[in-house]
Amino acid sequence: MSTRSLGLDDNLYRYLVAHGVRESPLLAELRAETATTPNPNMQISPEQGAFMALLIKLMDARRALEIGVFTGYSSLAVAGAMAADGRLVACDIDAAVTEIAARYWQRAGIAHKIDLRLAPAAETLDGLIAAGEQGRYDFAFIDADKEGYEGYYQRCLELLRPGGVILVDNVLWHGAVADDAAQDATTQALRAFNAARRQDERVDVAMIPVADGLTLLRKR
Ligand code: SAH
Ligand code: CA
Repeated sequence: MSTRSLGLDDNLYRYLVAHGVRESPLLAELRAETATTPNPNMQISPEQGAFMALLIKLMDARRALEIGVFTGYSSLAVAGAMAADGRLVACDIDAAVTEIAARYWQRAGIAHKIDLRLAPAAETLDGLIAAGEQGRYDFAFIDADKEGYEGYYQRCLELLRPGGVILVDNVLWHGAVADDAAQDATTQALRAFNAARRQDERVDVAMIPVADGLTLLRKR
Protein backbone atom coordinates (compact mmCIF):
# COMPACT_ATOMS: atom_id res chain seq x y z
CA MET A 1 0.00 0.00 0.00
CA SER A 2 1.08 3.50 -0.70
CA THR A 3 1.66 6.13 1.91
CA ARG A 4 -1.89 6.44 3.14
CA SER A 5 -3.20 9.22 5.33
CA LEU A 6 -1.55 9.17 8.76
CA GLY A 7 -3.41 8.60 11.98
CA LEU A 8 -6.45 6.71 10.63
CA ASP A 9 -7.01 3.08 11.65
CA ASP A 10 -7.44 0.48 8.89
CA ASN A 11 -11.20 0.49 9.10
CA LEU A 12 -11.61 4.27 8.89
CA TYR A 13 -9.00 4.49 6.13
CA ARG A 14 -10.92 1.92 4.06
CA TYR A 15 -14.06 3.98 4.59
CA LEU A 16 -12.32 7.17 3.48
CA VAL A 17 -11.08 5.62 0.24
CA ALA A 18 -14.38 3.85 -0.44
CA HIS A 19 -16.52 6.94 0.07
CA GLY A 20 -14.25 9.88 -0.64
CA VAL A 21 -12.32 8.86 -3.73
CA ARG A 22 -13.44 8.05 -7.27
CA GLU A 23 -10.32 6.35 -8.57
CA SER A 24 -10.55 5.76 -12.33
CA PRO A 25 -10.06 2.18 -13.58
CA LEU A 26 -6.76 3.26 -15.15
CA LEU A 27 -5.43 4.79 -11.91
CA ALA A 28 -6.49 1.62 -10.07
CA GLU A 29 -4.68 -0.50 -12.64
CA LEU A 30 -1.54 1.64 -12.29
CA ARG A 31 -1.72 1.22 -8.51
CA ALA A 32 -1.96 -2.56 -8.94
CA GLU A 33 0.95 -2.64 -11.39
CA THR A 34 3.08 -0.41 -9.14
CA ALA A 35 2.43 -2.82 -6.25
CA THR A 36 4.51 -5.39 -8.17
CA THR A 37 7.55 -3.04 -8.44
CA PRO A 38 10.34 -2.82 -5.82
CA ASN A 39 9.21 0.47 -4.19
CA PRO A 40 5.40 0.71 -4.28
CA ASN A 41 5.42 2.92 -1.17
CA MET A 42 6.77 5.82 -3.20
CA GLN A 43 3.44 6.15 -4.97
CA ILE A 44 0.99 8.77 -3.70
CA SER A 45 -2.22 7.49 -2.09
CA PRO A 46 -5.63 7.49 -3.84
CA GLU A 47 -7.07 10.19 -1.58
CA GLN A 48 -4.09 12.40 -2.30
CA GLY A 49 -4.55 11.87 -6.04
CA ALA A 50 -8.20 12.86 -5.77
CA PHE A 51 -7.29 15.96 -3.77
CA MET A 52 -4.64 17.03 -6.27
CA ALA A 53 -6.94 16.52 -9.25
CA LEU A 54 -9.62 18.63 -7.60
CA LEU A 55 -7.11 21.36 -6.82
CA ILE A 56 -6.01 21.45 -10.47
CA LYS A 57 -9.63 21.91 -11.53
CA LEU A 58 -10.30 24.56 -8.87
CA MET A 59 -7.33 26.53 -10.13
CA ASP A 60 -7.87 25.68 -13.79
CA ALA A 61 -4.13 25.06 -13.84
CA ARG A 62 -2.80 24.77 -17.39
CA ARG A 63 0.94 24.91 -16.87
CA ALA A 64 2.32 22.60 -14.23
CA LEU A 65 5.61 21.17 -12.97
CA GLU A 66 6.18 17.79 -11.38
CA ILE A 67 9.38 16.91 -9.57
CA GLY A 68 9.37 13.12 -9.07
CA VAL A 69 7.24 11.09 -11.52
CA PHE A 70 7.97 7.46 -10.54
CA THR A 71 5.37 5.16 -12.21
CA GLY A 72 3.11 8.11 -12.95
CA TYR A 73 0.20 8.14 -10.52
CA SER A 74 0.36 11.85 -9.61
CA SER A 75 1.07 12.91 -13.20
CA LEU A 76 -1.87 10.85 -14.46
CA ALA A 77 -4.13 12.45 -11.84
CA VAL A 78 -2.85 15.99 -12.46
CA ALA A 79 -2.58 15.98 -16.26
CA GLY A 80 -5.89 14.12 -16.46
CA ALA A 81 -7.53 16.98 -14.55
CA MET A 82 -6.02 19.72 -16.74
CA ALA A 83 -7.83 21.32 -19.67
CA ALA A 84 -7.08 20.01 -23.16
CA ASP A 85 -4.35 22.63 -23.69
CA GLY A 86 -2.72 21.91 -20.31
CA ARG A 87 0.96 21.03 -20.16
CA LEU A 88 2.91 19.25 -17.42
CA VAL A 89 6.70 19.30 -17.35
CA ALA A 90 7.48 16.00 -15.60
CA CYS A 91 10.95 15.58 -14.09
CA ASP A 92 12.63 12.31 -13.09
CA ILE A 93 15.96 10.55 -13.46
CA ASP A 94 14.71 6.96 -13.69
CA ALA A 95 14.04 5.75 -17.23
CA ALA A 96 12.68 2.37 -16.12
CA VAL A 97 9.88 3.59 -13.84
CA THR A 98 8.90 6.44 -16.14
CA GLU A 99 8.44 3.91 -18.96
CA ILE A 100 5.55 2.54 -16.91
CA ALA A 101 4.24 6.11 -16.47
CA ALA A 102 4.46 6.81 -20.21
CA ARG A 103 2.45 3.68 -21.00
CA TYR A 104 -0.40 4.95 -18.81
CA TRP A 105 -0.23 8.48 -20.25
CA GLN A 106 -0.72 6.91 -23.69
CA ARG A 107 -3.63 4.79 -22.60
CA ALA A 108 -5.30 7.78 -20.90
CA GLY A 109 -4.92 9.83 -24.08
CA ILE A 110 -2.97 12.54 -22.22
CA ALA A 111 0.57 11.86 -23.46
CA HIS A 112 0.44 15.08 -25.51
CA LYS A 113 0.05 17.07 -22.29
CA ILE A 114 3.20 15.67 -20.69
CA ASP A 115 6.76 16.72 -21.40
CA LEU A 116 8.97 14.14 -19.64
CA ARG A 117 12.46 15.40 -18.80
CA LEU A 118 14.85 12.64 -17.79
CA ALA A 119 17.57 14.60 -15.96
CA PRO A 120 18.24 15.80 -12.43
CA ALA A 121 15.26 18.05 -11.71
CA ALA A 122 17.40 21.02 -10.64
CA GLU A 123 18.97 21.04 -14.12
CA THR A 124 15.59 20.88 -15.85
CA LEU A 125 14.22 23.74 -13.71
CA ASP A 126 17.36 25.81 -14.30
CA GLY A 127 16.84 25.23 -18.01
CA LEU A 128 13.28 26.57 -17.81
CA ILE A 129 14.50 29.63 -15.89
CA ALA A 130 17.26 30.20 -18.43
CA ALA A 131 14.64 29.98 -21.20
CA GLY A 132 12.74 32.87 -19.59
CA GLU A 133 9.84 30.87 -18.18
CA GLN A 134 9.73 32.74 -14.84
CA GLY A 135 6.22 33.51 -13.62
CA ARG A 136 4.60 31.29 -16.23
CA TYR A 137 3.49 28.24 -14.22
CA ASP A 138 0.30 27.76 -12.23
CA PHE A 139 1.19 24.70 -10.20
CA ALA A 140 4.10 22.56 -9.02
CA PHE A 141 4.25 19.24 -7.16
CA ILE A 142 7.51 18.50 -5.35
CA ASP A 143 7.98 14.80 -4.56
CA ALA A 144 11.57 13.73 -5.43
CA ASP A 145 14.64 13.34 -3.16
CA LYS A 146 13.91 15.14 0.11
CA GLU A 147 17.37 16.68 0.45
CA GLY A 148 16.75 18.43 -2.84
CA TYR A 149 13.45 19.98 -1.72
CA GLU A 150 14.83 23.41 -0.76
CA GLY A 151 16.48 23.81 -4.17
CA TYR A 152 13.41 22.58 -6.06
CA TYR A 153 11.17 24.90 -4.07
CA GLN A 154 13.26 28.01 -4.75
CA ARG A 155 13.30 27.25 -8.47
CA CYS A 156 9.60 26.37 -8.66
CA LEU A 157 8.70 29.57 -6.82
CA GLU A 158 10.57 31.56 -9.44
CA LEU A 159 8.73 29.73 -12.23
CA LEU A 160 5.30 30.24 -10.62
CA ARG A 161 2.98 33.17 -11.31
CA PRO A 162 1.58 35.11 -8.33
CA GLY A 163 -1.38 33.07 -7.07
CA GLY A 164 0.25 29.86 -8.28
CA VAL A 165 0.46 26.91 -5.90
CA ILE A 166 3.28 24.57 -4.89
CA LEU A 167 2.41 21.26 -3.23
CA VAL A 168 5.18 19.57 -1.25
CA ASP A 169 4.86 15.89 -0.39
CA ASN A 170 5.93 13.84 2.64
CA VAL A 171 6.46 16.84 4.92
CA LEU A 172 5.48 14.81 8.03
CA TRP A 173 7.74 11.89 7.02
CA HIS A 174 5.76 9.19 8.90
CA GLY A 175 6.07 11.29 12.03
CA ALA A 176 9.87 11.37 12.07
CA VAL A 177 10.00 15.17 11.78
CA ALA A 178 8.46 15.43 15.27
CA ASP A 179 10.58 12.63 16.78
CA ASP A 180 13.76 13.95 18.42
CA ALA A 181 15.35 10.51 18.13
CA ALA A 182 15.25 10.75 14.32
CA GLN A 183 18.43 12.52 13.25
CA ASP A 184 19.06 11.09 9.77
CA ALA A 185 19.86 13.49 6.93
CA THR A 186 16.50 13.15 5.20
CA THR A 187 14.50 13.91 8.33
CA GLN A 188 16.75 16.88 9.14
CA ALA A 189 16.34 18.22 5.60
CA LEU A 190 12.55 18.03 5.88
CA ARG A 191 12.62 19.73 9.31
CA ALA A 192 14.73 22.57 7.92
CA PHE A 193 12.47 22.86 4.87
CA ASN A 194 9.32 23.03 7.02
CA ALA A 195 10.85 25.58 9.40
CA ALA A 196 11.92 27.79 6.51
CA ARG A 197 8.44 27.81 4.96
CA ARG A 198 6.90 28.88 8.26
CA GLN A 199 9.02 32.06 7.98
CA ASP A 200 8.73 32.49 4.21
CA GLU A 201 6.79 35.72 3.60
CA ARG A 202 6.70 35.19 -0.17
CA VAL A 203 3.97 32.57 0.23
CA ASP A 204 0.76 31.75 2.09
CA VAL A 205 1.15 28.34 3.70
CA ALA A 206 -0.99 25.48 5.01
CA MET A 207 0.41 22.11 6.06
CA ILE A 208 -2.29 19.44 6.05
CA PRO A 209 -2.25 15.81 7.26
CA VAL A 210 -3.21 14.25 3.93
CA ALA A 211 -1.25 11.06 3.27
CA ASP A 212 2.30 11.59 4.61
CA GLY A 213 1.78 15.32 5.13
CA LEU A 214 1.29 17.84 2.36
CA THR A 215 2.22 21.52 2.41
CA LEU A 216 0.30 23.90 0.17
CA LEU A 217 2.10 27.14 -0.65
CA ARG A 218 0.50 29.98 -2.61
CA LYS A 219 2.82 32.53 -4.18
CA ARG A 220 1.93 36.07 -3.14
N1 SAH B 1 4.91 11.40 -7.55
C1 SAH B 1 5.18 9.97 -7.75
C2 SAH B 1 6.14 9.43 -6.72
C3 SAH B 1 7.53 10.02 -6.81
S1 SAH B 1 8.74 9.00 -6.00
C4 SAH B 1 3.87 9.19 -7.78
O1 SAH B 1 2.80 9.78 -7.72
O2 SAH B 1 3.92 7.97 -7.87
C5 SAH B 1 10.21 9.96 -6.20
C6 SAH B 1 10.79 10.00 -7.62
O3 SAH B 1 11.80 11.02 -7.59
C7 SAH B 1 11.46 8.72 -8.08
O4 SAH B 1 10.87 8.24 -9.27
C8 SAH B 1 12.93 9.14 -8.32
O5 SAH B 1 13.52 8.54 -9.47
C9 SAH B 1 12.80 10.65 -8.52
N2 SAH B 1 14.03 11.40 -8.25
C10 SAH B 1 14.96 11.17 -7.29
N3 SAH B 1 15.96 12.06 -7.37
C11 SAH B 1 15.65 12.89 -8.41
C12 SAH B 1 16.29 14.02 -9.01
N4 SAH B 1 17.47 14.48 -8.55
N5 SAH B 1 15.70 14.61 -10.07
C13 SAH B 1 14.51 14.15 -10.54
N6 SAH B 1 13.87 13.10 -10.01
C14 SAH B 1 14.43 12.47 -8.98
CA1 CA C 1 5.85 11.14 -1.99
